[in-house]
Amino acid sequence: MASITAHRGSLFHLLDDPRKDSEAYEFIDDALLVIADGRIQSMGPYSQIKPTLAADINIEEHPDAILCPGFFDLHIHFPQLTTTAVYGEQLLGWLNTIIPQEEVYKDQSHASQCAELFLGELLRNGTTTAAVYGSWAKESVNALFEKAADLNLRLGAGKVMADRNMPEGISLTSPEQDYDDSKELIERWHGHKRLSYITTPRFAISCTPDDLRVCRRLLDEHPDSYLQTHLSENPREIEFTLELFPECKSYLDVYDSYGLLGPRTLFGHCIHLEDSDFQRVSETGSVLCPNPPSNFFLGSGLFKFQAAKEHGVRMALGTDFGAGNTFSMLNSMENGYKMAQLQGYSLSPFEAFYHSTLGGARALSMDQQVGNFLPGKEADFIVLDKTATPFIEWRLQHASTPSEILFVLMMLGDDRAIRATYVAGQQVHCKAA
Ligand SMILES: [Zn+2]
Repeated sequence: MASITAHRGSLFHLLDDPRKDSEAYEFIDDALLVIADGRIQSMGPYSQIKPTLAADINIEEHPDAILCPGFFDLHIHFPQLTTTAVYGEQLLGWLNTIIPQEEVYKDQSHASQCAELFLGELLRNGTTTAAVYGSWAKESVNALFEKAADLNLRLGAGKVMADRNMPEGISLTSPEQDYDDSKELIERWHGHKRLSYITTPRFAISCTPDDLRVCRRLLDEHPDSYLQTHLSENPREIEFTLELFPECKSYLDVYDSYGLLGPRTLFGHCIHLEDSDFQRVSETGSVLCPNPPSNFFLGSGLFKFQAAKEHGVRMALGTDFGAGNTFSMLNSMENGYKMAQLQGYSLSPFEAFYHSTLGGARALSMDQQVGNFLPGKEADFIVLDKTATPFIEWRLQHASTPSEILFVLMMLGDDRAIRATYVAGQQVHCKAA
């Protein structure tokens, strides 16, 4: 017998990319979401679905709330818990300050305690899937995956590879060690439960050509695994990268030269891209992951939402916590809106939610499994609280359309707007009353 539960509330999800079809969403005022063994069995208006349910099925009521697919944060750093909110620097200076503090994550029991806090914060903020950078030490990634497996999360992560140009106080790896450690982690974790491995060169500055060749080798040996790295975040970073790879015509071209572009590659930031870069990203199906909270915090620049739309690139938002000062994807959407406004582009709430839900699932080629409420998908979802604060409750009384309601939540909401989080149908977070 399947274990069946049902949830009643308003319901919102995207059905396609609103950059192509602005009507490709569903918003149901009074909906019923039915879950069997952790997957969506059916969903729709309460009046239609209720008669199809057996009388003894328990219906969980979510008044004044919207059921929404869980958020995707496609760029976040696990070992930066103690180094978020560090004052005063831009990217390269900031990295010199914070990277040495990742060294303690080679102690697995410390990493394990931090993993519990880190994953708890993700869930408290409604993030059910993330692409996570570990530290250089495989122990950090083992600790993270162990906790994520216990919670049955759909999570991807990798240990950072960095065999040169690291600040004092952090261990350098070597291409051989990076290969061996990554391989061991892939064999242990990739495909275990809902986990995925992401090969993670920190960025081109920290990787020798041999280290980048190791990345290509790992992808060749495990074609259904992923790659994530940083791209074109800060002008000084770009200059240094091109000094290290003078044969390359752009920062993107460095990764391209080592065969690292493709549909399973996630590039973080991507701020200072030229049109030719967007074109190359588009032809290779690579994914761009802008992180507005971090880009404002470090003063790195503005992601070109309009160009990304025009080139039809695959993209999904992240927070880049700890350079980002928040775990909240609602905050990331809010900052994304402001970032686009600074360039004369108004990011719609449907686009922002797409880049944080279905777009994230598509970016990971996981949209057959998660990302919206179509029957058969895994039931990773959140309960957005329309009464999160007295002011939000009042403001929403003056909002009527789905677009207005979602926009108010993304501009005024944060972790307080996440009433509950469910993973594969199981509640993993519930906000204190
Ligand atoms: Zn980052």
